[in-house]
Amino acid sequence: MVADDAIHDATSPTAVRNSAAPEVSSLAQLTLDGLRPATTVLGCVYFLFALVHLRMPPSISAILVPWALGSAVLLLWLRWILRRDHEIRLSVNAISMAVVAIAMSHSFATLALTQDPSQALNLMILLVGGCFIFLSRTLVIGMIAAALIGWAVVVGPRIAVPPWNTFGLSLLLASAIGYILQTTRLHSVRHLEELRRQADERAITMRQRARYLQTLISIGQRINGFLDVDALLNHVVNTLHTIFGYDFAGVFLADETGRYLDARAATGAVGEELLAEGCRLDLGKRGLVGWASKYRETVCVNDVGRDDRYLEIGQLPNTRSEMVVPLVVGDTLLGVIDLQSDRLNAFSQDDVRVCGSLAAQITTALQNASLYELEHSRRTLMETLYQVGRALSQTLDVGEVLDLILSGLEKVVSFDAGAVALERDGELEIVAARGFDEGTDPQMLQLPIRENGVFRMICGDKQPLVIPDVTELLTWEYSEELPGTRAWVGLPLIDAQDDVIGILSLSRERPDPYTAHEVVFGTAFAGQAGIALNNAHLYLELTEAYRLLRRLDNAKADFITLASHELRTPLTLVTGYSHILLDEPELVQDPSLYAMANGVALGAARLQEIVDRMMDLAEIESQTLELQFEPTHLDLLLMGIVRNHAQTASRRQINIVLEDLASLPEIEADRAELVKIFRHLITNAVKYTPNGGEVRISGAYRRSLRESQAGRGVEITVSDTGIGIDPEHHDRIFDKFYHIGEVSLHSTSETKFQGGGPGLGLAIVKGIVQAHRGDVWVESEGHDMQACPGSSFHVLLPVSQPVVAMEMKRRLMELEAVALPQSHAGGPSPGTN
Ligand code: ADP
Repeated sequence: MVADDAIHDATSPTAVRNSAAPEVSSLAQLTLDGLRPATTVLGCVYFLFALVHLRMPPSISAILVPWALGSAVLLLWLRWILRRDHEIRLSVNAISMAVVAIAMSHSFATLALTQDPSQALNLMILLVGGCFIFLSRTLVIGMIAAALIGWAVVVGPRIAVPPWNTFGLSLLLASAIGYILQTTRLHSVRHLEELRRQADERAITMRQRARYLQTLISIGQRINGFLDVDALLNHVVNTLHTIFGYDFAGVFLADETGRYLDARAATGAVGEELLAEGCRLDLGKRGLVGWASKYRETVCVNDVGRDDRYLEIGQLPNTRSEMVVPLVVGDTLLGVIDLQSDRLNAFSQDDVRVCGSLAAQITTALQNASLYELEHSRRTLMETLYQVGRALSQTLDVGEVLDLILSGLEKVVSFDAGAVALERDGELEIVAARGFDEGTDPQMLQLPIRENGVFRMICGDKQPLVIPDVTELLTWEYSEELPGTRAWVGLPLIDAQDDVIGILSLSRERPDPYTAHEVVFGTAFAGQAGIALNNAHLYLELTEAYRLLRRLDNAKADFITLASHELRTPLTLVTGYSHILLDEPELVQDPSLYAMANGVALGAARLQEIVDRMMDLAEIESQTLELQFEPTHLDLLLMGIVRNHAQTASRRQINIVLEDLASLPEIEADRAELVKIFRHLITNAVKYTPNGGEVRISGAYRRSLRESQAGRGVEITVSDTGIGIDPEHHDRIFDKFYHIGEVSLHSTSETKFQGGGPGLGLAIVKGIVQAHRGDVWVESEGHDMQACPGSSFHVLLPVSQPVVAMEMKRRLMELEAVALPQSHAGGPSPGTN
């Protein structure tokens, strides 16, 4: 009877929504398919009947012909309606009943008027045909009942006599055959319908699976392209939410400790809320998430009210079904996907399978993205460290470098506020900051250091301190001026003495704890910050020391200038008067008085020499030394100097040898100054050579002065067989006042072995050589009083001086000659010393 009702309602709008809708429409369709040819054939047959009825007696044909014609017209009209009305707005059953009624009325009319028992054959044909066409059992039974009752009524009492009773039996038989036919057909149609329905269902399932697979493939293809973990997870949850229609989709990732699962991506307003409050669940403990993460298996509950493991998330009170899929690599749990729905039985086996495959893909993509992120962070770290390193070598502005460090750090470690704070007088003083409120000047903040506070903890361990959530730390001190903090890490800044001088502090407003990677990166930057601070500190110290040295040096230079000038006048008096005394006949006759006066004269001469050197040095240092270049023969000049040393040398049995000097070319030089150079060098050579030694003065012509400098030069070498000089002093002996060893141990004589001197000789030598654009250096294996390895002083002088310098000198000399003719005439002639 279900099918009857269904067929009856097949065209009503509710039927379309009925669960049996496919069967109804197909049964109705079948009936309709039979009705169309039936009405056509019957229509034609009734035209024929009309013709046949014409041959009947007029009284009968007058009724039956119009009846048959009317029936034919009605049937063809119905046929026309059936053709036009594609959407079958009219009920199929109503049309069927109309067809039956038309055919049956004509049969009964013919039977009644003709009283011909064989007319029952028409009814029989109608019954069998109708039972075959109509699939509504009610209609068929109604039709049979109407035919039998109608026939009995028309036939009346003749029903018991032959041949009427024979036709009556035939009619019954036809009814039975029709009924059986109808039942069999209905059964096969239903069976066919069932088969079709199953095939359709299978096709739907296949289509659904294909869609799942397609979605899986497309998600897989897309997620592998994500290099950012958060973007990847957001894509995954949004896809699950939109394509599969789950009410809530979220991904929780395991933290580094392996104790918690942190919400990393979730859909909808609930998701936003969970992420904002930093939702974290206990790994392996309560809820379906806990179960799935503990056993690393997918759990799917289609009625959470009946499962003890279910734990409600406050924001999702309407959840009826939940599925949790773990994300596992080997033995490691990366996290879980949590899907929730407010419908019962929301997840099918297919859903479980699909989510399982998706989880495998997400796990791989997650690993790739994590690796990429790590690699990217490492590269950024290296690049930033390189930049910071460069900045460190280029600037000593510590503020600039610390700012650079914080901005570099921001690229690899996320933080809402970062600061470099140094310990000063029991407080922490912020020297660089990032991410503070516009209104606050972090540099003005003074943070007290408490004994049990975080700074002291860091000082004790000299290790980074990570606080996952400061609200859980009782000793955490809140300050209104500081940005809101949940997750925090403090990294020690360590100075050259391995002391903690401050901290690099990073904080997040969300309770998203700093990971081990982030701490490693942060430590690298804290190291750089430590170097920057040390550099700045060293620089300050060096600048201080340099200033002090400059002051001392200036004072020394001032002293030399002042002393040499101030000593000159009294010295001239002492020298003059001592010579007058020595010439006094009375004094000459008194040996003791003469010795005293002679001592005064010698002392004054020695002092004069020192003052002269001081004057020379003052001139060099104040850059007022004016050279008067002229062509100079070095062999002649050197012979003259050696001659002056002959007496001293012979007294100490020192042999002074001159060699290879005659072939040297003339050079452009200031002779008077050259004399000073070689007098100092020969004096030193004699002084530091024991009695019986040798001093050798040799010359060589050089085609180029230095590798980098074109031009010819002459190299004079003053070698001795003396005590030698340790290589560590080779550079510094050219500094003024520099002495090797204990000064007090030196003898006071200029020419005695290791006689003392003011430590100015070589400084003057260097100054004059440089003024000639030359070079001076010493070679000696080392210092040894016994073995006497000797020393060699090399003086390299250019053959010619630059034209500009020479020309300027010449002009200057001309000007001087014009301006001061008499002083020039009375001045000392060069090369006479
Ligand atoms: P001083 O005026 O004291 O001689 P110098 O500037 O001439 O000072 O020399 C500086 C130092 O270099 C000397 O104190 C001496 O120790 C060392 N020195 C210079 N020449 C020689 C040398 N030929 N052999 C060994 N030591 C030398």
